[in-house]
Amino acid sequence: MNKSLLLKWKWRILKEDNAIWSRFLLLRYRNPKFKVLASSGEVLNRDDSSWWKDIILNDFKKEDSVDGFNDWVICDFKQGNTILFWHSSWLGDQTLRESFPLLFDLSTNKLCKVSEAISWNNGVFSWNLGVPMGIDGLDSLGPNLLHQPTNGTSMAISLLMRDLKVLLDRITPNTVDYDDFHWKLTSNGVFSVASVSSLVSNSKDIAWPSNTIKLLDVMWKANIPKKVKIFSWRFFIKRLPLKDLLAYRGINLTSLDCPFCSYHPESSEHLFFQCQITKTVWEKIYPWLGNDLEFSLEEFKSFGCIQEKAKKSNIRVN
Ligand SMILES: [Zn+2]
Repeated sequence: MNKSLLLKWKWRILKEDNAIWSRFLLLRYRNPKFKVLASSGEVLNRDDSSWWKDIILNDFKKEDSVDGFNDWVICDFKQGNTILFWHSSWLGDQTLRESFPLLFDLSTNKLCKVSEAISWNNGVFSWNLGVPMGIDGLDSLGPNLLHQPTNGTSMAISLLMRDLKVLLDRITPNTVDYDDFHWKLTSNGVFSVASVSSLVSNSKDIAWPSNTIKLLDVMWKANIPKKVKIFSWRFFIKRLPLKDLLAYRGINLTSLDCPFCSYHPESSEHLFFQCQITKTVWEKIYPWLGNDLEFSLEEFKSFGCIQEKAKKSNIRVN
């Protein structure tokens, strides 16, 4: 498969430092490792070769609805100048984009390198969250936010920032060694084309139950904003970084409580269906959908069931 072969180039660029072509790429494209991990048009220049553009932009993420190259590379953080703060897996097996989606969403520096978030002062390092967030002077603002009674969102943001800071403070950069990379999809940590091909072909058919596939299919074609599609997609395949899932993955959080009501642990069932706050939203939506249309999370996932109910209520769902 051509795409998997191009991914192999990305892998070689990350790993083969001593090859002559690798030194050429370093001179020609500057920090090629960072750029292949970024996989974004934003790191391309107009005069880059089409070969290079193909390598950078080639990924499975967008059209194949699976994870992409960045999610499959585990980064061994040393100096952090080739690793992406938000998009790389360098703190555990999840990216910070996934663990802290709200902060990622607010960030105006989404392609920040890990090394850029480190401040050095007389040989002593500290983490400066203002850089990956894209906000100057954020560190002086943080503690004040925490101690003032503020609205729910800014409270949630400052708590998330505190959680992120706790995670980061456990990590120390190593100024001597270079960042290294391991492939997540093989047991020996080395890239193979077969590992990608089998994942991509399996992911569509086997991983999800048929009702979920049907639902995703309808949703993907629906005329709704792309970010809503992506959010819903992650919700249905259980990839939203909710607190129950994060705790299960061993991430230490200050609280597991639902940020709305603080009475129950945050899970998708609670947050989207059972929380008192969420219920008030549903109560507005039900009458709009049809008077007797109410459903649980399981029913919601089975789109056929909603269509059936909607038909009885005489409205169109899709
Ligand atoms: Zn709640």
